[in-house]
Amino acid sequence: MPSPTERNTRQRLAIREAIAASGMPIPPREIHRQARSNVEGLGLATVYRTLKLLADAGVITAVEIPGQPPHYELAGKHHHHHFHCRACGRVFEVEGCCGHFEEHAPRGFQIDGHEVLLFGRCADCAKLPERGRTTAAKRTTRP
Ligand SMILES: [Zn+2]
Ligand SMILES: [Zn+2]
Repeated sequence: MPSPTERNTRQRLAIREAIAASGMPIPPREIHRQARSNVEGLGLATVYRTLKLLADAGVITAVEIPGQPPHYELAGKHHHHHFHCRACGRVFEVEGCCGHFEEHAPRGFQIDGHEVLLFGRCADCAKLPERGRTTAAKRTTRP
């Protein structure tokens, strides 16, 4: 029988591992689905509690998507942005940064940081002929 401390550590590791293994920011339900195969009886409430703990400790970061539960990724990655697919709901990392946001700030304002969220359909979803939309018009070529 593992002690409560051991159990907490195992839960934390499993949750961190689920996020690391996914390679993309994922919501608590998905983290729960993956982590519970490593921790017997892991509840969703525990996942939420642990996520908050890990976020406070700076191990993971929440990615806020309007109208969605927060998605989590490992903290400390290099600067990047996100793409939210409105068809499948997945959130992808987007490499690179267009930068030069200083020009858009009002005169006298100082920018400390920025977030860029692209949305649309991911490559998988763009391939699907769906709801009569033509997929030829907007392929995955980046502007
Ligand atoms: Zn998609
Ligand atoms: Zn940027």
